[in-house]
Amino acid sequence: MKKRIWLSPPHMSENEAPFIKEAFDTNWIAPSGPNLDRFEQQLSDCLSGHFVVALNSGTAALHLALVTLGIKNGDEVICQSFTFSASVNPVIYQGAKPVFIDSESDTWNMDPDLLEKAIIDRLTLGKKVKAIVVVNLYGMPAKLKKISSIASKYAIPLVEDAAESFGSSLDNIPCGTFGSIGIISFNGNKIITTSSGGALITSSSAFISNAKHLASQAKDIAPYYQHSKIGYNYKMSNVLAGIGLGQLMVLNERIQSRRNNFQRYVDYFSEWNKKGFDISFQNEPDGYISNRWLTCILVDPERNKGLNIEAIRLALEENNIEARLLWKPMHQQPIYDIYPFYSNGTSDRLFETGLCLPSGSSLTDEDFIRIFECLDNLFKNCL
Ligand SMILES: *Cc1c(COP(=O)(O)O)cnc(C)c1O
Repeated sequence: MKKRIWLSPPHMSENEAPFIKEAFDTNWIAPSGPNLDRFEQQLSDCLSGHFVVALNSGTAALHLALVTLGIKNGDEVICQSFTFSASVNPVIYQGAKPVFIDSESDTWNMDPDLLEKAIIDRLTLGKKVKAIVVVNLYGMPAKLKKISSIASKYAIPLVEDAAESFGSSLDNIPCGTFGSIGIISFNGNKIITTSSGGALITSSSAFISNAKHLASQAKDIAPYYQHSKIGYNYKMSNVLAGIGLGQLMVLNERIQSRRNNFQRYVDYFSEWNKKGFDISFQNEPDGYISNRWLTCILVDPERNKGLNIEAIRLALEENNIEARLLWKPMHQQPIYDIYPFYSNGTSDRLFETGLCLPSGSSLTDEDFIRIFECLDNLFKNCL
């Protein structure tokens, strides 16, 4: 069997190990230390100077965002249905109730018109919407300007789940900085990684000091352990922050590689589209820059000679190449199908017809040859 081509594997440079060695040499093996301070400072430099606290996962960052915003039992939080479950689970951790919004077809993210409709509807029903969680899927910024202006109009705090979109921007404003609080993830599959990790981003000094306090067990200032609030153990390790420092040195290269992957797939499928297929991609509207974390294709069997994504996935799998369906929307999940959902059909259609292709920044020319050979055979058989 040929070596497996993964969807989005970690991609180390040669820069990480020296920072880790330094942590060992100086015995800073703790969730504090010089690597962590430098990592937070450099992240802040990438994020318009916003305050940053590095945490042990993106999920922890989202949870802390909701705690910081005071989300509690009985509150409603508006969420994007088309996303990974970690965008929504922290709403449940807080005993709050998610209200799901469908996507629009340009960016595949939260539909601003439906968002406003839902806010008005919840108000009419006498419900309290306490936050909105928008997501930039596969690296593509949501319609963040429209969404943040709707959020301000109704005075609802916006949380930007930029887990997949570190390095993306909208009108030159970096993703992660649009909401009252933003989060990014450094999980092993993301654009850069600390093995596991995340960060909370905010321009509010009150939010950041509260988040930092809660992230390290909410210790009061006292000569003994005293706690006036429930804390969490959410800080990133100084060892893992060393991986982050090394990865930040190659962030721009990683983004460029993933954008090149995307263009390679576009060029490849455009040849098949000339022969009567109709494969399409996630748009990048004017002013939007996606890190193209994952390249996804839409394959409607009715416009592609009966070819469907499951056939493509299986053909790739047979050649030990990993591909994966798009996120299964939250309103279709057994854990979430009981919650309100404002629908327009978009996320159902995306889930039915969408496939994520191998997109790692370490993909080689040989990998692409294997992927394209496999797809060639499949497409030829449909002609
Ligand atoms: C990865 C991811 C998260 C969670 O990040 P972790 O670091 O894995 O906890 C949250 N939201 C989205 C959209 C993600 O892709």
